[in-house]
Amino acid sequence: MKVYDRLYIGGEWVTPAGTGTLDVINPATEEPAGRVPESTVADMDRAVEAARAAFDEGPWPRMAPAERAAVLTKVSQAIQAEMADLAALITTEMGAPVTWGTMGQVLAPSMIFDYYAGLATSYPFEDLRSGLLGSVLVRNEPVGVVAAIAPWNVPLFIGAAKLSPALVAGCTVVFKPAPETPLDAFRLAEIFEEAGLPKGVLSVVPAGREVGEHLVRHPKVDKVSFTGSTAAGRKIGAICGEQLKRFSLELGGKSAAVILDDANLEEALPMLLGNAIMNNGEACIAQTRILAPRDRYQEIVEALVEKVSAMTVGDPLDPTVEVGPLVAERQRDRVEGYIKIGQEEGAKVALGGGRPAGLDKGYYVEPTVFVDVDNSMRIAQEEIFGPVLAVIPYEGDDQAVAIANDSDYGLCGSVWTSDPDRGLEVARGVRTGTYMLNNPVPIDFATPFGGFKGSGLGREFGREGLELFLEQKSITLPAGYTPST
Ligand code: NAD
Repeated sequence: MKVYDRLYIGGEWVTPAGTGTLDVINPATEEPAGRVPESTVADMDRAVEAARAAFDEGPWPRMAPAERAAVLTKVSQAIQAEMADLAALITTEMGAPVTWGTMGQVLAPSMIFDYYAGLATSYPFEDLRSGLLGSVLVRNEPVGVVAAIAPWNVPLFIGAAKLSPALVAGCTVVFKPAPETPLDAFRLAEIFEEAGLPKGVLSVVPAGREVGEHLVRHPKVDKVSFTGSTAAGRKIGAICGEQLKRFSLELGGKSAAVILDDANLEEALPMLLGNAIMNNGEACIAQTRILAPRDRYQEIVEALVEKVSAMTVGDPLDPTVEVGPLVAERQRDRVEGYIKIGQEEGAKVALGGGRPAGLDKGYYVEPTVFVDVDNSMRIAQEEIFGPVLAVIPYEGDDQAVAIANDSDYGLCGSVWTSDPDRGLEVARGVRTGTYMLNNPVPIDFATPFGGFKGSGLGREFGREGLELFLEQKSITLPAGYTPST
């Protein structure tokens, strides 16, 4: 059991202002796995003041981008050096199968730190341009104090997605991890400390919604970078809009995987399912609507059921396990609630629907496949966030695109076909921020990722992800003058 009795504020491990604690429960055993102090409004204020001072007066924003990048490189190396321990820690917090988690929860964050460390040395932070009327120096300056707010499902990954571009840009950051997953965030704070991050640049203050909202509203915060549910995103966007505070939102999804009638199922389904039930189905990019051509519907359902039923469900620390428990009892209640709703709506359970046999402890739900699903049903429209798939029939590529687009969300999607030209036409027609064409990789960290419609605002990753943390300033220069540095 990992216990912290201090918060990481302004580069110091400090006594919290309050006495409340956050208990981390291992979702596989239902036993306590850790405890940390719960940050209060006073702790948030202190963290924001430290970040403000470090931004206004400290060395970090004034250092060369390459110097900031050197800290990120050290952080990436430290993460890689303890990959197995970090993967096990995150699995103990939220239940990700550890083999997937080693790649998705730990290696991926180190790749993100490396990518932004590399971009720091090539990005034009100062860009001398020929304007219409003469030379203009366009500066890309850090936006200021950033509030970074993360969910529990891929905690270190989201931390990396926010901290690495923000820090490379020269911002200072108050990071609020989700109350379910504070342990890996505190380990990240220790890693940053060991890597020599100047004091004040980073604070890690775990808390729930109300204290999180105080951080969002704080007048000394310049920018909010939020990942979480669409409902919380709307609220945060409204607060930031009122204050004209910069903000970016990475929100929910209900992505559609389109299987075209020429698809090779033996090749496509393993790649598709790797994304559909990824992270126990607790993934914003999960391909949870599976669109099957009506004339191959039965064949596709049978193949899906065969492959999903072969998935190993159990202790997520077992390296052979593919599906672990959901994060918490409340999440299992939610998923079971949707399984009931699906049946009431008239969809049929072709596989699963209950709790796995022999697992008496832990928040497990059987991987579940619904068939005869109409896209207007709630199980096809709402984000379930569990291992529940809805197989929806369609006729013709145009109808597949129309069904894929008939969603309040627009985060990800995929198409599976033996004709990439045909697949690319489908990909072009679907209104989402990322898309997979016969490819199992949903996100490439060198390119933008984010949502259309209710899935968010702004793009993380790639240079676009860095630009979320930059303000542009154009300085018109006197005729004949060229800056010497
Ligand atoms: P959530 O919205 O309940 O919470 C996310 C984080 O925001 C937590 O740290 C929470 O404490 C905080 N929070 C909630 N309301 C807040 C408010 N009003 N002010 C300030 N902070 C607030 O989401 P969750 O259940 O933790 O995470 C699951 C959701 O995250 C899913 O909808 C999933 O799709 C989404 N998600 C999106 C992406 C993406 O990149 N688009 C990635 C991962 C998860």
